[in-house]
Amino acid sequence: MIELFKPTWMVETAYEIDPQALHQHGIRAVFSDLDNTLTAWNNPNGTPEMRDWMQRLQAAGIPLIIISNNTAKRVGKAVEALDLPFMARSLKPLGFGITRARKKLGLAKSEVVMVGDQLMTDIAAANSAGVRSVLVKPLIDTDKWVTKINRVVEKPVMRQLKRRFPKEVQWQEKIN
Ligand SMILES: [Mg+2]
Repeated sequence: MIELFKPTWMVETAYEIDPQALHQHGIRAVFSDLDNTLTAWNNPNGTPEMRDWMQRLQAAGIPLIIISNNTAKRVGKAVEALDLPFMARSLKPLGFGITRARKKLGLAKSEVVMVGDQLMTDIAAANSAGVRSVLVKPLIDTDKWVTKINRVVEKPVMRQLKRRFPKEVQWQEKIN
């Protein structure tokens, strides 16, 4: 059960994910959560570092697709400034949205990685869909009640993960 929440990699922020390292792992597309992973509520355009990373992915020919539980209307508005494709109503922690987006690109499970700041939704969805994942630290604390509840539940889950997989479940400088 606890394996459902186990990320493949853990790095501080999305922009530490090097396109070159993705190539080495045979990853051809990055799927990502939006809120607190790529943008924060007080900066919907993303930081310069994040935008620079998006450009580096693009230059490397690796598409970045938002996997959101929101409606198309809401997520469309939220990603407008970033100009990124998205999959709405993804039903995270289920794998449906990831699988739908992956099939649309004609990619194998091994060719996709899912990035997100929450074990209970993003990482569980990645594992449900059978793709690798990167857990990042939330950009800032939001006041959304759903997120707050998830965080409270996440602490014991993370503790259990660290106990069960002490070597693997660790924050790293980069994906290896
Ligand atoms: Mg999030």
